[in-house]
Amino acid sequence: MLRFRVLGSGSSGNTTLVEGGGTRILIDAGLAPRELAERLSAIGVEADSISAVFVSHEHNDHSRGAPGFSKRWGVRLSGSRGTYAAAGLGAAEIEGYDVLEAGVPRQVGGLTVEGVPVPHDAAAPLAFVVTCDGRSLGHATDFGHIGRGLVNAFRRCDAVLVESNYDPDMLRDGPYPWSLKQRILGGYGHLSNADTSRYLARDLGEACRVVVLAHLSRQNNHPEVALMSAESALRRRGRTEVRVEVTGPEGTDWLEVGDAPPPPAAPKAPKQLRLF
Ligand SMILES: [Zn+2]
Ligand SMILES: [Zn+2]
Repeated sequence: MLRFRVLGSGSSGNTTLVEGGGTRILIDAGLAPRELAERLSAIGVEADSISAVFVSHEHNDHSRGAPGFSKRWGVRLSGSRGTYAAAGLGAAEIEGYDVLEAGVPRQVGGLTVEGVPVPHDAAAPLAFVVTCDGRSLGHATDFGHIGRGLVNAFRRCDAVLVESNYDPDMLRDGPYPWSLKQRILGGYGHLSNADTSRYLARDLGEACRVVVLAHLSRQNNHPEVALMSAESALRRRGRTEVRVEVTGPEGTDWLEVGDAPPPPAAPKAPKQLRLF
């Protein structure tokens, strides 16, 4: 069984726990190491049971806790070569770093992780597809537009976590300086609710049953606005079977990827052998 749980989302820190085939990994470590360990412990997960941390890119809200968590709990980091260089991860400060080449799947225990390049103003940012026993989760935050590569990589995913960062009107009318607004709105910034909804309406794969809207801007978005936009896009396409959740700094509960396994069959009554 593959399942995941967002431990934190947004500019205050992004981390998702993914579990399957007896293996646990984190995607991003944007929370301070102690905070991260506490959030894991609160859900009954020991920090040293994490097999690897996959870092999507070097921005602080995704990598802040990575070196400290790696060193403290003896967990190796993984991500692109560009992320390693840009994050300035000194070899002495981390347990180790495994380069993940985009498009080349890597096995970590019972999980397979594949990196997918995304357009964002970072060194070589990646989205991830995590697969276990034929079920897969697509995980993508921080990108300015959705390219064919990501659409194709996510097409078979049973669950998708995707950012829905801002409402364009709230951003335009909001307090950010013009240069920052331009950065967010640009092709290498973030996805708007409308961008995400367009993706859901046009390109979400048929297998997908769970969508999590993540990395919402506190200044320039509102959970209800993002949710309404995504749900109405899916309704227009007749995809009412897709469950949509919005996550924020407090994260989510466990979310299962794909159908829950059927309950074990009741044991049959032993046949009585007739001897006479
Ligand atoms: Zn971010
Ligand atoms: Zn970023």
